[in-house]
Amino acid sequence: MTTPLLGQMMDVPLNVSSLVRHAARYAGDTEIVSRRVEGDIHRYTYRDCEKRAKQLAQALIRLGVSPGERIGTLAWNGYRHLEAYYGVTGFGAVCHTINPRLFPEQIAFIINHADDSYVLFDTTFAALVDVVAPQCPKVKGWIALADEAHIPALATPVLSYETLLAAEDGDFEWPVLDERCASNLCYTSGTTGNPKGALYSHRSSVLHAYGASLPDALGLSARDAVLPVVPMFHVNAWGIPHAVALTGAKLVLPGKDLDGKSLHDLMETERVTFSAGVPTVWMCLLQYVRETGKRFSTLERTVIGGSACPPAMLREFEDVYGVRVIHAWGMTEMSPLGTLVRLNWEQSQRPLEERRQLMEKQGAVICGVDMKIVGADGQELPRDGVAFGDLHVRGPWVIDRYFRSEASPLVDGWFPTGDVATIDRDGFLHITDRSKDVIKSGGEWISSIDVENVAIAHPAVAEAACIACAHPKWTERPLLVVVKREGENVTREALLAFYEGKVAKWWIPDDVVFVEQLPHTATGKLQKLKLREMFRDHVLPAEIAGAA
Ligand code: ADP
Repeated sequence: MTTPLLGQMMDVPLNVSSLVRHAARYAGDTEIVSRRVEGDIHRYTYRDCEKRAKQLAQALIRLGVSPGERIGTLAWNGYRHLEAYYGVTGFGAVCHTINPRLFPEQIAFIINHADDSYVLFDTTFAALVDVVAPQCPKVKGWIALADEAHIPALATPVLSYETLLAAEDGDFEWPVLDERCASNLCYTSGTTGNPKGALYSHRSSVLHAYGASLPDALGLSARDAVLPVVPMFHVNAWGIPHAVALTGAKLVLPGKDLDGKSLHDLMETERVTFSAGVPTVWMCLLQYVRETGKRFSTLERTVIGGSACPPAMLREFEDVYGVRVIHAWGMTEMSPLGTLVRLNWEQSQRPLEERRQLMEKQGAVICGVDMKIVGADGQELPRDGVAFGDLHVRGPWVIDRYFRSEASPLVDGWFPTGDVATIDRDGFLHITDRSKDVIKSGGEWISSIDVENVAIAHPAVAEAACIACAHPKWTERPLLVVVKREGENVTREALLAFYEGKVAKWWIPDDVVFVEQLPHTATGKLQKLKLREMFRDHVLPAEIAGAA
């Protein structure tokens, strides 16, 4: 056997700290603007950010934190949280972002499971800390992301972040870490069972940042001003805090005010070109601009993901406001980016309606991720845009196993996403459902997402959820639960008639129920499990339109 000829390039490990170091050196004057919980607007640069991240690293080391220890955060999108992203990971500790919108018991479970030694928190979460702290006896200290003057009265003893930083000089070299070391820890939101931890490595985070920045992915550049609405406590804000440093883009962090007016004001004053968030957030923003007659003067593109982007939303952004929507799909277990919609040269020449249909899908993978769909027998299904099955993925930023869990979730080396999808010959992914949400009618599957999208296109509908209702003959039939737009009206019959010609006849819901609001998870997704419980005893009308 011949010995392989090794390459002769530098063996520089991929470390997260290299991103902020790069930004500080080569985009040193570029601004990071934050709306603080204190109420004002804070501005500084990547150079300042790296210095303070180093001060944080020094402060944590002084507190006795060792590499590998987990440091929790309960914080909005803001500059101090960004410092934690770099300061904690930079010396080898693990930045564990916690979703403050979860129930306190879940938060305590997550902190204990992760074994966080310190938790950094925004002062808005002071009351939450007082509830959670007694349940987390192993946490050595709670650090308020504030100066002494802004720390509210708490029962829990707390340290001041600013006081800790003030004691350090920032004269610190980022150590070179093994790129396989853990950098960040994120828990899934636990829509099914207890939350599970995805432990990213320095290598996976840096590769994800490169992949995310590609022109056909987020497509970020130093010409952009980026406002991530997606929270930094939800899957690392889709990797944006890393990708902006890598590209040297201006960063605008909205803090806790995520209502339409606050977001629009910040987008306009900071001349934001790029944003990202889940559909629920954009629903509020669109309602605000619709009602006030406002426009977007600088916003060019926005990434919508986390749940399916309703086609009606895509059209409104593009047709009315001239903002390009990039529909994206991913999950916590994938760091999270998997696919994004990008049309290649040939697809861009197709007629508008065909282009639209492609853009409503979840898009093509970022090079690095591979995907396939499999049937119940585990065999791969054709990539013909028709066959749908369980979606499996693999790649260097896809999870291998959950934190502190021995059992491997992989099937033949692939991660089963729990999503049901088609893949077409262009490689475009179309998510039809979560496997647990799919509606099984007479042995066939109905895509709840497609049924919802039709309803949302109706002018009187603000939000819609389609769930399975038990049926003696067909096993399950679709029930549509609808929230009307304020001041608008539509009847059950009119809404059902609206489906004619838009979906297969047997996909038309059997019944419509109007409600004041729909339940959402902590990450703004429809809580279908809860909805199914709410409507468990719902009786469908005897005459089944769709089953005829
Ligand atoms: P959780 O649902 O536990 O909060 P994630 O936030 O990681 O976990 O969500 C991942 C799931 O969200 C995906 O598996 C998929 O079901 C759904 N999802 C994400 N983006 C999209 C999208 N663009 N279209 C449809 N579903 C999506």
